[in-house]
Amino acid sequence: MKILTDPIELQSQCMAWRNQGLTVGLVPTMGYFHNGHTSLIDMARAQCDKLVVTLFVNPTQFGENEDLGNYPHDFDGDCTKAETHGADLLFAPAPDAMYAPDHATWVTVPTLGKHLCGASRPIHFQGVCTVVTKLFNLVQPTKAVFGQKDWQQLAILKRMVRDLNMPIEIIGHPIVREADGLALSSRNAYMTDEERAAAPAIRQDLLKLADKVKNGERDSAAAKQWLEKEYSSTLPMGIVDYIELVTPDSIEPVSTISSSVLAAVAIHVGKARLLDNILIEV
Ligand code: AMP
Repeated sequence: MKILTDPIELQSQCMAWRNQGLTVGLVPTMGYFHNGHTSLIDMARAQCDKLVVTLFVNPTQFGENEDLGNYPHDFDGDCTKAETHGADLLFAPAPDAMYAPDHATWVTVPTLGKHLCGASRPIHFQGVCTVVTKLFNLVQPTKAVFGQKDWQQLAILKRMVRDLNMPIEIIGHPIVREADGLALSSRNAYMTDEERAAAPAIRQDLLKLADKVKNGERDSAAAKQWLEKEYSSTLPMGIVDYIELVTPDSIEPVSTISSSVLAAVAIHVGKARLLDNILIEV
């Protein structure tokens, strides 16, 4: 596996592959790989001739008081995992290689970024869309794989690619979970043992909510209230950032549940802000 830090070298290598008629897959990440990341890598590996994994903790998607400076890392471990799972190239640039000091161009999808994570992290998706566009321009992949754990991100990137006519297929990978149901996340490492033991309630209560909706609950406000109350007893140390029921593609809050709905939550458990979601088909 080749390791590159220079965007120009990445671009030339990918261009050479494409000129040979090879398809190129891309899996963008921020590193500290767990089985969620490696499952995305496996999925992309199976669908493309050459596979690029990027590892970049993108500063422009972090707000001022977020965990940019403390984001967990294990570069050597990540290289081993990427190589073992068949990556041909790992791209790990420094921030100043990606952003010129006078960088002035941003890509935004404002309507889909209004709610959920966009409400509590106002600059987040502008940073994501901009860096992903830059990676798309460098790699020009045939396909790129993203996780459904970050459902809103996936919906935004699908819309961005459609709206800007980017010739890239965006593939969503289902959420990869621990045996007890907790969604894998690099940020799970921030939790104490006690917090980690309680965290599976996030998923368990979402499953109970899905049952309630399938059994006829149609009032979104009542469903959200029920879930919030449930978390206050099953996860008392959790601080809810948001509990929302939204349309799965356009990420608009739903008041009456009349078709499939995405229930999405973000909950602070100690130092970790944990995301989870469930698509409820009605
Ligand atoms: P990150 O390194 O957190 O930016 O994640 C890189 C990619 O892996 C994103 O597309 C995430 O949605 C995806 N991802 C992270 N955790 C999981 C998970 N538990 N299941 C599926 N995909 C995930």
